[in-house]
Amino acid sequence: MIHRAGTPIVNWYLLEEGGRVTIVDAGCPRYRGQLEGALRAIDRRIEDVEAIVLTHAHIDHIGFAQKLQDERGVPVFAHDAEIAQATTGKAPSTEGALLPALLRHRRAREVVFHIVRHGGAKPPKLASVTRYGDGELLDVPGHPRAVHVPGHSPGSCLLHVPAEGAAFLGDALSGWNTITGQQGPTLPPAEFSNSMEQARASLDRVQAVSADTLYFGHGDPWTGGAPSAVAHARELDAAAGGGRAGSPQGVPAEV
Ligand SMILES: [Zn+2]
Repeated sequence: MIHRAGTPIVNWYLLEEGGRVTIVDAGCPRYRGQLEGALRAIDRRIEDVEAIVLTHAHIDHIGFAQKLQDERGVPVFAHDAEIAQATTGKAPSTEGALLPALLRHRRAREVVFHIVRHGGAKPPKLASVTRYGDGELLDVPGHPRAVHVPGHSPGSCLLHVPAEGAAFLGDALSGWNTITGQQGPTLPPAEFSNSMEQARASLDRVQAVSADTLYFGHGDPWTGGAPSAVAHARELDAAAGGGRAGSPQGVPAEV
Protein backbone atom coordinates (compact mmCIF):
# COMPACT_ATOMS: atom_id res chain seq x y z
CA MET A 1 0.00 0.00 0.00
CA ILE A 2 1.16 3.52 -0.77
CA HIS A 3 0.04 6.57 1.18
CA ARG A 4 0.77 10.13 0.11
CA ALA A 5 1.52 12.66 2.85
CA GLY A 6 2.87 16.20 3.03
CA THR A 7 1.52 19.51 1.78
CA PRO A 8 0.51 20.99 -1.57
CA ILE A 9 4.18 22.01 -2.00
CA VAL A 10 6.11 18.90 -0.91
CA ASN A 11 5.08 15.23 -0.88
CA TRP A 12 6.46 12.34 1.10
CA TYR A 13 5.16 8.77 1.21
CA LEU A 14 4.52 5.68 3.25
CA LEU A 15 5.11 2.34 1.56
CA GLU A 16 3.55 -0.49 3.54
CA GLU A 17 3.99 -4.22 3.10
CA GLY A 18 2.70 -6.83 5.52
CA GLY A 19 2.16 -4.28 8.29
CA ARG A 20 5.71 -2.91 8.06
CA VAL A 21 6.43 0.54 6.72
CA THR A 22 9.09 2.33 4.68
CA ILE A 23 9.08 6.11 4.55
CA VAL A 24 9.96 7.25 1.02
CA ASP A 25 11.50 10.72 1.34
CA ALA A 26 10.90 12.64 4.54
CA GLY A 27 9.52 15.98 3.38
CA CYS A 28 10.79 19.13 5.08
CA PRO A 29 12.46 18.99 8.51
CA ARG A 30 9.39 20.31 10.36
CA TYR A 31 7.10 17.74 8.76
CA ARG A 32 7.96 15.36 11.63
CA GLY A 33 4.62 16.27 13.22
CA GLN A 34 2.79 14.80 10.21
CA LEU A 35 4.17 11.30 10.70
CA GLU A 36 1.81 9.88 13.35
CA GLY A 37 -1.27 11.10 11.48
CA ALA A 38 -0.03 9.60 8.22
CA LEU A 39 0.64 6.27 9.94
CA ARG A 40 -2.81 6.33 11.55
CA ALA A 41 -4.36 6.84 8.12
CA ILE A 42 -3.04 3.40 7.10
CA ASP A 43 -3.67 1.88 10.53
CA ARG A 44 0.02 1.66 11.46
CA ARG A 45 2.11 3.00 14.32
CA ILE A 46 5.58 4.44 14.72
CA GLU A 47 6.86 1.01 15.81
CA ASP A 48 6.01 -0.30 12.33
CA VAL A 49 8.47 2.03 10.58
CA GLU A 50 11.56 0.09 9.52
CA ALA A 51 13.37 2.36 7.10
CA ILE A 52 13.57 5.71 5.37
CA VAL A 53 14.61 5.57 1.71
CA LEU A 54 15.60 8.81 0.00
CA THR A 55 15.22 9.35 -3.74
CA HIS A 56 17.82 12.08 -3.28
CA ALA A 57 19.28 14.19 -0.51
CA HIS A 58 17.85 17.65 -1.10
CA ILE A 59 16.50 19.47 1.92
CA ASP A 60 12.82 18.90 1.07
CA HIS A 61 13.42 15.14 0.85
CA ILE A 62 15.84 14.52 3.77
CA GLY A 63 13.32 16.39 5.91
CA PHE A 64 12.83 14.73 9.29
CA ALA A 65 15.07 11.73 8.53
CA GLN A 66 17.73 12.67 11.10
CA LYS A 67 15.10 13.36 13.73
CA LEU A 68 13.61 9.92 13.28
CA GLN A 69 17.04 8.32 13.25
CA ASP A 70 17.79 10.07 16.56
CA GLU A 71 14.45 9.13 18.08
CA ARG A 72 14.20 5.52 16.99
CA GLY A 73 17.39 4.49 15.16
CA VAL A 74 15.54 4.09 11.86
CA PRO A 75 18.12 3.51 9.08
CA VAL A 76 18.22 6.03 6.22
CA PHE A 77 19.07 4.82 2.71
CA ALA A 78 20.50 6.90 -0.15
CA HIS A 79 22.34 6.22 -3.40
CA ASP A 80 26.17 6.14 -3.32
CA ALA A 81 26.46 9.37 -5.31
CA GLU A 82 24.15 11.14 -2.86
CA ILE A 83 26.11 10.35 0.31
CA ALA A 84 28.24 13.52 0.17
CA GLN A 85 25.13 15.69 -0.12
CA ALA A 86 23.36 13.77 2.62
CA THR A 87 26.18 13.92 5.15
CA THR A 88 27.91 17.29 4.63
CA GLY A 89 24.94 19.68 4.66
CA LYS A 90 26.50 21.75 1.85
CA ALA A 91 24.18 23.63 -0.49
CA PRO A 92 23.78 21.56 -3.66
CA SER A 93 25.37 22.97 -6.81
CA THR A 94 22.73 23.90 -9.35
CA GLU A 95 22.87 24.84 -13.00
CA GLY A 96 20.45 27.74 -13.09
CA ALA A 97 20.58 30.99 -11.13
CA LEU A 98 17.89 31.02 -8.47
CA LEU A 99 17.74 34.74 -7.66
CA PRO A 100 16.36 35.95 -11.03
CA ALA A 101 13.84 33.10 -10.93
CA LEU A 102 12.72 34.18 -7.45
CA LEU A 103 12.27 37.73 -8.64
CA ARG A 104 10.27 36.66 -11.67
CA HIS A 105 8.09 33.84 -10.34
CA ARG A 106 5.73 34.03 -7.38
CA ARG A 107 5.53 30.23 -7.33
CA ALA A 108 9.31 29.93 -6.89
CA ARG A 109 9.12 32.32 -3.93
CA GLU A 110 6.31 30.30 -2.39
CA VAL A 111 8.31 27.07 -2.73
CA VAL A 112 11.47 28.51 -1.18
CA PHE A 113 9.60 30.31 1.63
CA HIS A 114 7.65 27.15 2.39
CA ILE A 115 10.80 25.05 2.70
CA VAL A 116 12.56 27.68 4.84
CA ARG A 117 9.52 28.05 7.09
CA HIS A 118 9.44 24.29 7.57
CA GLY A 119 12.96 24.00 8.89
CA GLY A 120 14.92 24.11 5.66
CA ALA A 121 16.92 27.32 6.06
CA LYS A 122 20.07 25.25 5.81
CA PRO A 123 20.53 21.75 4.37
CA PRO A 124 20.35 19.03 7.02
CA LYS A 125 23.23 16.63 7.63
CA LEU A 126 22.66 12.96 8.29
CA ALA A 127 24.95 11.26 10.81
CA SER A 128 24.67 7.86 9.19
CA VAL A 129 23.43 6.75 5.79
CA THR A 130 23.08 3.24 4.36
CA ARG A 131 24.23 3.19 0.74
CA TYR A 132 22.43 1.65 -2.14
CA GLY A 133 23.45 1.29 -5.78
CA ASP A 134 21.82 1.33 -9.19
CA GLY A 135 19.61 -1.70 -9.77
CA GLU A 136 19.64 -2.72 -6.13
CA LEU A 137 16.56 -4.34 -4.62
CA LEU A 138 16.28 -2.80 -1.17
CA ASP A 139 15.53 -5.15 1.70
CA VAL A 140 12.96 -2.85 3.31
CA PRO A 141 9.15 -3.02 3.44
CA GLY A 142 7.75 -2.74 -0.08
CA HIS A 143 11.04 -3.91 -1.60
CA PRO A 144 11.64 -1.01 -3.99
CA ARG A 145 14.25 -1.40 -6.71
CA ALA A 146 16.52 1.62 -7.25
CA VAL A 147 17.06 2.97 -10.76
CA HIS A 148 19.75 5.63 -10.98
CA VAL A 149 18.38 8.70 -12.80
CA PRO A 150 21.00 11.43 -12.21
CA GLY A 151 20.54 15.04 -13.25
CA HIS A 152 18.41 16.73 -10.63
CA SER A 153 21.21 15.60 -8.31
CA PRO A 154 24.18 13.26 -8.88
CA GLY A 155 22.63 10.35 -6.98
CA SER A 156 18.94 10.84 -7.79
CA CYS A 157 17.11 7.55 -8.09
CA LEU A 158 13.61 6.43 -8.82
CA LEU A 159 12.26 3.64 -6.68
CA HIS A 160 10.28 1.07 -8.59
CA VAL A 161 7.73 -1.03 -6.69
CA PRO A 162 6.47 -3.64 -9.20
CA ALA A 163 4.03 -5.17 -6.68
CA GLU A 164 2.22 -1.82 -6.52
CA GLY A 165 2.56 -1.04 -10.24
CA ALA A 166 4.17 2.16 -9.06
CA ALA A 167 7.37 4.15 -8.93
CA PHE A 168 8.55 7.00 -6.73
CA LEU A 169 10.24 9.51 -9.01
CA GLY A 170 11.69 11.93 -6.47
CA ASP A 171 12.33 14.99 -8.63
CA ALA A 172 13.52 13.15 -11.77
CA LEU A 173 10.13 14.29 -13.03
CA SER A 174 7.86 16.67 -11.22
CA GLY A 175 4.08 17.02 -11.16
CA TRP A 176 4.46 20.78 -11.64
CA ASN A 177 7.32 23.13 -12.28
CA THR A 178 8.59 24.32 -8.89
CA ILE A 179 9.76 27.63 -10.39
CA THR A 180 6.95 28.63 -12.74
CA GLY A 181 4.07 26.52 -11.39
CA GLN A 182 3.37 25.10 -14.87
CA GLN A 183 1.62 21.72 -14.63
CA GLY A 184 3.61 18.65 -15.63
CA PRO A 185 4.78 15.98 -15.67
CA THR A 186 7.88 18.03 -16.28
CA LEU A 187 11.64 17.93 -15.88
CA PRO A 188 12.84 19.60 -12.69
CA PRO A 189 13.92 23.22 -13.23
CA ALA A 190 17.60 24.05 -13.81
CA GLU A 191 17.50 26.40 -10.81
CA PHE A 192 17.13 23.39 -8.52
CA SER A 193 19.11 20.85 -10.59
CA ASN A 194 22.70 19.77 -10.92
CA SER A 195 22.77 18.90 -14.64
CA MET A 196 19.91 19.31 -17.09
CA GLU A 197 21.84 17.35 -19.72
CA GLN A 198 21.92 14.37 -17.36
CA ALA A 199 18.31 14.90 -16.31
CA ARG A 200 17.27 14.75 -19.99
CA ALA A 201 19.37 11.65 -20.60
CA SER A 202 17.82 9.96 -17.56
CA LEU A 203 14.37 10.23 -19.13
CA ASP A 204 15.20 7.13 -21.19
CA ARG A 205 15.53 5.19 -17.93
CA VAL A 206 12.34 6.69 -16.50
CA GLN A 207 10.47 5.77 -19.66
CA ALA A 208 11.56 2.14 -19.40
CA VAL A 209 10.05 1.67 -15.94
CA SER A 210 7.02 -0.56 -16.00
CA ALA A 211 4.71 1.35 -13.64
CA ASP A 212 1.21 2.73 -14.15
CA THR A 213 1.38 5.22 -11.32
CA LEU A 214 4.22 7.67 -10.78
CA TYR A 215 4.54 9.45 -7.43
CA PHE A 216 6.43 12.73 -7.52
CA GLY A 217 8.22 14.80 -4.89
CA HIS A 218 5.97 17.66 -5.96
CA GLY A 219 2.48 17.41 -7.41
CA ASP A 220 -0.26 14.87 -7.91
CA PRO A 221 0.45 11.27 -8.95
CA TRP A 222 0.40 10.48 -12.67
CA THR A 223 -1.64 7.39 -13.48
CA GLY A 224 -0.95 7.17 -17.21
CA GLY A 225 2.29 5.19 -17.05
CA ALA A 226 5.92 6.21 -17.50
CA PRO A 227 6.10 6.56 -21.32
CA SER A 228 3.29 9.13 -21.49
CA ALA A 229 4.72 11.09 -18.54
CA VAL A 230 8.11 11.24 -20.23
CA ALA A 231 6.55 12.23 -23.57
CA HIS A 232 4.73 15.06 -21.77
CA ALA A 233 7.93 16.23 -20.08
CA ARG A 234 9.84 16.15 -23.37
CA GLU A 235 7.14 18.22 -25.08
CA LEU A 236 7.27 20.88 -22.38
CA ASP A 237 11.06 20.87 -22.50
CA ALA A 238 11.16 21.24 -26.28
CA ALA A 239 8.56 24.03 -26.17
CA ALA A 240 10.80 25.87 -23.68
CA GLY A 241 13.80 25.45 -25.98
CA GLY A 242 15.38 22.93 -23.63
CA GLY A 243 18.53 21.10 -24.61
CA ARG A 244 19.27 23.34 -27.60
CA ALA A 245 22.90 24.34 -27.98
CA GLY A 246 23.29 27.94 -26.94
CA SER A 247 20.16 28.01 -24.82
CA PRO A 248 20.51 30.51 -22.00
CA GLN A 249 21.99 29.22 -18.80
CA GLY A 250 22.49 30.92 -15.49
CA VAL A 251 25.45 30.84 -13.22
CA PRO A 252 25.45 28.46 -10.26
CA ALA A 253 23.62 29.89 -7.28
CA GLU A 254 23.71 29.15 -3.58
CA VAL A 255 20.40 29.28 -1.81
ZN1 LIG B 1 12.12 18.26 -4.21
